[in-house]
Amino acid sequence: STLKEYIPNFNYDEARITARLSANENPYGPAPKVIQAISEAVSSGNRYGHRDAATLIEMIAEKEGVSPEHIMLGPGSSDLLEKTAFVSFSHGGNIVSADPAYMSIVSTAKALGATWKPVGLTKDYAHDLDAMANAVDTETKLVYVCNPNNPTGSITDPVKLKSFCTSVSEKTPVFVDEAYLEFLDDAESHTMVGLVAEGKDVIVARTFSKIHGMAGLRIGYIVAQPERIKSITNKVRSTMGLCVTSLKGAIASMKEQKFLEDCKKRNAECRTFVTAEISKLGYDIIPSYTSFLIFPITMAGDAFMKGMYDEGVGIRVFNIADKPWCRVSMGTMEEMKYFVETFKKVTV
Ligand code: PLP
Repeated sequence: STLKEYIPNFNYDEARITARLSANENPYGPAPKVIQAISEAVSSGNRYGHRDAATLIEMIAEKEGVSPEHIMLGPGSSDLLEKTAFVSFSHGGNIVSADPAYMSIVSTAKALGATWKPVGLTKDYAHDLDAMANAVDTETKLVYVCNPNNPTGSITDPVKLKSFCTSVSEKTPVFVDEAYLEFLDDAESHTMVGLVAEGKDVIVARTFSKIHGMAGLRIGYIVAQPERIKSITNKVRSTMGLCVTSLKGAIASMKEQKFLEDCKKRNAECRTFVTAEISKLGYDIIPSYTSFLIFPITMAGDAFMKGMYDEGVGIRVFNIADKPWCRVSMGTMEEMKYFVETFKKVTV
């Protein structure tokens, strides 16, 4: 892989981090009504949450235009990425994905003995769909597409992606991770969920961790063919990993349209501000459609990271194509101003 990550090799005190911009979290969530719903749900914590899971599944099915049998919930989409990997790669095989991409499913596949077939992004940081289709062979058990992509923040043309998913899913399931979908201006035209409704072997993952601001509460879902869902749930019980509090929170959050719109708007304002400020300093930021930005830096990766953390700014540094890149999540405007100020101070 060309993608490596700098892990801080120094001890830092979480309490000293004043701007936590390292994990693509939503600084505004959860919505006040979600907090209230969760507080009220605590007293029913003696009961398993199967009924609430069923309610949430029905709400999601309606929203996505599929039946409840097409939906599986998990404690975060991470869990569903892992479970899909468990059932797909228990006998080896290979996984095709972009490089760089979000590595969760690839890492699990590799841990299970599968081989990774990485395919570089195009010069516009989109998925190279022709090259990915060519990489699929008889041993390919799954193709993974992250759109918008993490860590690049870039998107792949939805019309091309639909045609790719349609043809490739004839040969092997295509997993489309849409964790950042809701930050797009025209999310509806970018989602691949319609292909599931059409009967294609496509698995779409979504999460309450990003736009809903519920990362620590752990709720995500996949939309897929009922047989795909059953191939997982016949082996692992799907609702046993879920908390009644988080389920109630997610149910409440689905009704908070105004809050979600507001998060999206504020995120976009921060993205515009940081892009302008950092570009002025001469850095090339990849145009982002998500809640984070990434750009190559000129300073050594570890020194930059340490400098930022010492000033209380948590970011992540990736090594892509032998260059260090700073990935910064959008916090509040105040945090982003502090990020820019600190960036200037650390990189002089
Ligand atoms: N997929 C992508 C692309 C992500 O960036 C993340 C988290 O950062 C996840 C999935 C996992 O999120 P969660 O398990 O919180 O749903």
